[in-house]
Amino acid sequence: MSSAIQQRLTGERPRARVIIIGAGFAGLSAAQRLGKLAVDVTLLDRKNHHTFQPLLYQVALAVLSPGDIAQPIRSIVRNNSNTEVVMDEVLGIDTVKRRVHIKSGVEMIYDYLILATGSTHSYFGKSEWAAIAPGLKTVEDATEIRRRVLLAFELAERQMLETGSHPPLQFVVIGGGPTGVELAGAISDIARLYMTRDFRHIDTKTAKVLILEGSPHVLAAYPPDLQKSAVRQLNKLGVTVRTSAHVTDVQPGYVMVGDERVDSCCTLWAAGVQASPLGKLLAQTPGVELDKRGCVIVNQYLNPKNLPEVFVCGDLAHVEQDGKQVPGVAQPAMQMGDYAGRRIGLLVADSDKAARMKPFRYFDKGDMATIGRKAAVARVVWPFKANLSGFIAWMMWMFVHIYFLVGFRNRLSVFRSWAFTYIQLQDGVRLIVGSQTLPGWDELAQPATTTQNDVQI
Ligand SMILES: Cc1cc2nc3c(=O)[nH]c(=O)nc-3n(C[C@H](O)[C@H](O)[C@H](O)COP(=O)(O)OP(=O)(O)OC[C@H]3O[C@@H](n4cnc5c(N)ncnc54)[C@H](O)[C@@H]3O)c2cc1C
Repeated sequence: MSSAIQQRLTGERPRARVIIIGAGFAGLSAAQRLGKLAVDVTLLDRKNHHTFQPLLYQVALAVLSPGDIAQPIRSIVRNNSNTEVVMDEVLGIDTVKRRVHIKSGVEMIYDYLILATGSTHSYFGKSEWAAIAPGLKTVEDATEIRRRVLLAFELAERQMLETGSHPPLQFVVIGGGPTGVELAGAISDIARLYMTRDFRHIDTKTAKVLILEGSPHVLAAYPPDLQKSAVRQLNKLGVTVRTSAHVTDVQPGYVMVGDERVDSCCTLWAAGVQASPLGKLLAQTPGVELDKRGCVIVNQYLNPKNLPEVFVCGDLAHVEQDGKQVPGVAQPAMQMGDYAGRRIGLLVADSDKAARMKPFRYFDKGDMATIGRKAAVARVVWPFKANLSGFIAWMMWMFVHIYFLVGFRNRLSVFRSWAFTYIQLQDGVRLIVGSQTLPGWDELAQPATTTQNDVQI
């Protein structure tokens, strides 16, 4: 029996034990910092891999493979000899006894806890919409979206063969934030650029993509000039953007915008985000408060009220800075994780220094969202200030994403895939795995509404 397991069973703890829940951007960043310190670290995640979420839409739209953007957690922290990885789901946190309960039944004791379980989709109380309009958060979501989008083209081709017509290929993306814009642009790209020579009976270029955004603007967090530029670039790619369009129902084959029915062969959800449910578990501790999205309200040291040994980081944390909430994106998550790791290091080693440690401050370098091939917007704050759009923003987006990808092999393989896809307009990972049914297709297909006379069988 290893000494670590023996110590665990006997309750002896020669060094402080830090449990990190969640190996996303925040959790990994904390783990890398703590890996160099004199503490014992347990990194807990319900998946065995870290997912680079900013490139998930490229898996969903068949540009990249899941393996290009995901990396086994064990291999990432392999060189941190003080770190163990446990793949399990956390079901409960006892902040009085300082224990974490995991699904397998084990209870794990901590001296310090970092909670970084991120966020999840919100269907605004209409959870039944999830089966019809999948959202994008995990590799599984991405492969399901890929299945549906590609299947729509396959079913159209098959129906052309059978009947000489097919329903309009209209893809509806609900939500015009960065994920909605990326998904819409990428569907348009595959239909207009990458698949045009693959089908004999349908014209993939006739596919339409529609973004339905409830607020008056897409990319709400971006400055107005970049919002307008994004719409222009989307329109150029053939994507229609409808703003102030409130979706009232989502059904197989269509969505309702008020009283208007909008046909959809494939509906995707990019509209709402809510904090991971673990925030609610923590809020069972008296004094711990949540905001309206379920994020845990923390102080400037990232501690929830009354819990100086607990740190909440990343999307799950509600941190205020200069009167505004720090955004739920990757950079703040990494910076919070690193800060929590450093702070724990000081608390363990030198309480005087810990008392003098400056509060967390998010260093905003800017944001960028890609819209399609050669199309993007970027709000750059560091190392220079500029609002960029089009090709330059797109190049910048590519380099930044390659740079931040976890793992050298992934960087190389993403670079190679992009070269094939964007320069040669070919290849891609257009695999349909799983079921061959598409919600709503049969309803849309009866009666068929689009015809094409020159069917060649
Ligand atoms: C499609 C998409 C595109 C995005 N694009 C961008 C972008 O271009 N730029 C950008 O800056 N940000 C982007 N973001 C946001 C960014 O990815 C998040 O802000 C970031 O991932 C948050 O990091 P995190 O560590 O808080 O959570 P996450 O990275 O979500 O990690 C949470 C981890 O916790 C684990 N977990 C959750 N619950 C449990 C549990 N009960 N037990 C055990 N483990 C659990 C999960 O498996 C996961 O590994 C995007 C997000 C999405 C979904």
